Amino acid sequence: MQSAASPQTEPNFNSDFYFQREIPENLAFLETLSWNFFWSWNYEAANLFRELDSQLWEKCEQNPRLLLREISELRLWQKAADADYVEKLNSTAEKFNDYLAAAPNSLGKITADHPAAYFCAEYGVHNSLPIYSGGLGILAGDHLKSASDLKVPLVAVGLIYRFGYFRQKIAHDGWQTETYLDSFDNQLALFPVLSENGERILIKVHIRGREVFAQAWLAHIGRIKLYLLDTNVEENAEVDRLITGHLYGGDTETRIVQEKILGIGGVRLLRQLQIEPSVYHLNEGHSAFLTLELAREFLQKNSDASFADAIAEVREKCVFTTHTPVAAGNDTFPPEQIEDCFDANLISALKISKEEFLALGRTNPDDANEWFGMTPLAIRMARSANGVSAKHGAVSRQLWLKMFPEETPVEDVPITHITNGVHAPTWIAPPFQTLYEKQIGKNWQEILKDEAAWRTAIEKIPDAEIWRTHRILKHLLVAFIRHRTFSSETGLRETINEHQDTQQLFSPDVLTIGFARRVAAYKRWNLILSDVERLLKLVGDAEKPVQFVFAGKAHPQDKTAKALLQKLMTLNASPEWQRRAVFVEDYDQEVARYLVQGVDVWLNVPIRPMEASGTSGQKAAMNGGLNFSILDGWWIEGYNGTNGFSIGAADDADDADEALIDAQDAESLYQTLETEIVPAYYQTDENGLPNEWIRRMKDSLTTLTHQFSSDRMVKDYIEKIYLSENLVSDK
Ligand SMILES: *Cc1c(COP(=O)(O)O)cnc(C)c1O
Repeated sequence: MQSAASPQTEPNFNSDFYFQREIPENLAFLETLSWNFFWSWNYEAANLFRELDSQLWEKCEQNPRLLLREISELRLWQKAADADYVEKLNSTAEKFNDYLAAAPNSLGKITADHPAAYFCAEYGVHNSLPIYSGGLGILAGDHLKSASDLKVPLVAVGLIYRFGYFRQKIAHDGWQTETYLDSFDNQLALFPVLSENGERILIKVHIRGREVFAQAWLAHIGRIKLYLLDTNVEENAEVDRLITGHLYGGDTETRIVQEKILGIGGVRLLRQLQIEPSVYHLNEGHSAFLTLELAREFLQKNSDASFADAIAEVREKCVFTTHTPVAAGNDTFPPEQIEDCFDANLISALKISKEEFLALGRTNPDDANEWFGMTPLAIRMARSANGVSAKHGAVSRQLWLKMFPEETPVEDVPITHITNGVHAPTWIAPPFQTLYEKQIGKNWQEILKDEAAWRTAIEKIPDAEIWRTHRILKHLLVAFIRHRTFSSETGLRETINEHQDTQQLFSPDVLTIGFARRVAAYKRWNLILSDVERLLKLVGDAEKPVQFVFAGKAHPQDKTAKALLQKLMTLNASPEWQRRAVFVEDYDQEVARYLVQGVDVWLNVPIRPMEASGTSGQKAAMNGGLNFSILDGWWIEGYNGTNGFSIGAADDADDADEALIDAQDAESLYQTLETEIVPAYYQTDENGLPNEWIRRMKDSLTTLTHQFSSDRMVKDYIEKIYLSENLVSDK
């Protein structure tokens, strides 16, 4: 069906991008494994790389391709001579081969011949494929991993950003600085997509008054193929080669042309690969131009048809997920830029006027001043639209009500919701996975699919075992923090980012609160510092202290966010504060893993109702961390009164005085910490176990792991969205 060749069958890429080294024959599987991100959610597979050379593995930032290039010949042959290692390798190889050999399921009209096509501007599969910035990307990565595990026929399309997203450093004055690295210097696990005669497939899209070419790369995510378009080819002008240069780096014009490559180029690539999807999933509006390409194709084939016929046809095939609850969070472009980027030929091929074309992206088609929005375009051109939590569904219905006929009751707006989830084997720490293997069985992931069976299984695990496992992860977090802080140590002064003695930092015995997220206004980093005196009292308590670990990036152009970060960084408050508060630079998937797996409490304080869903708290919950959060996004559905803690009221902050809401939420935050969280954490029984706390941990593990797993999410997408014929609302 597909003409794209894989390197196992076609090793001559005539490209120096690939480094082929000789690997001992009995370790040959390492080479195979390094080409499939399967290893990134199977810890035994990842351990094969780590055990080769654990220091080098860290140095290579867990990139197996790079590891296999850098590793010494001596080390390779030592492992080839290590019978235990080879035995582990063989058993993992068997699992991997069985996994890949399984045939995909047929799910109604979604079949291997007509898969679902998933489009997204970013994918967070693993750090070694640095094409994500945050939540949206991680969610897309988890979607692919669950689709793979569930044998869903699905193909994914995205862009490869040569310079990825920025790396964060904090300067001595507490100001964030950014650097971009060339991802292609680092051996990416990507195959060039080739045609039958072995040449690189090139697709072209008319952009900036000329043809722009893109080649494609293929990443294997278990059973799922992820195709990534890349305009860095010789055929292009220098500026066009940079279209896929940076993720969210450019101006609005760059955004439009990136989104043209993703949407229009993405469909053209699928055609060249002879893939005929049964459904196109637009994950966020970035890819919405694909609907115009589908319409153009239809009109080309059906010369008598009108644009209205084309819309009907396209809608049948397209479904759309929106991810932001605020109008400003949706991509919009000035009409003149859209006109510049779309040539008259395309518009006339659609059999509409320029005015009608521009109206496709407006909430009010008649308002010539309105900018062109990707969300209105997607809502018009897709048969289904959904938000990412129940609350976000409701907020989206309100937000887009104006696009529907006057007097449409808000509850009838056809926007439903599928609540986000995270990929359990990716995010549950290996020590918990081995605990589950011992206590529940090797098939614990199967049991997790059944909510009731999972509850029974977790309840049977002895408290002491849960606590022991959590303590190991907490020690690991403390060691990680000391290590990272030591590496970035300057010794110039004591702040939460610079330390003279990293070995005194943090303690595994102290109640640990994690706060890691983008530094954006609505995430309210400032709420925590709103009463420094009260905060320091908590942190400095002689008997029952609290410690904080922070991480997060500010958008390079967002000076307000950077100033906020600087304030936190330079708060030179007391020796206790400097010892018990740290900021870990360069928040990414790796940092996230240590944090969500090791903290006692995961804190989230967004302004209601701005958190569409949030997923980091779900990751913490799966590792026994207790959520302590504003009732917004997923937490409204997750919180049951005992499986974590809530902050503030449940109603929206919409019309109320912002400063007042902040003050109320801050009071609730401090008070809950002082009167509930700290006392519960430090109350231990005669065996030294904090049983009240462990009871809550188990409550969290039983009630949240299944419900907020991406397996549940992907199943919901298939049943309620991909396979449903009609527009659905939440009614
Ligand atoms: C999970 C994750 C996110 C998204 O978390 P939120 O709860 O939406 O803030 C962002 N960045 C990284 C690195 C993550 O792992």
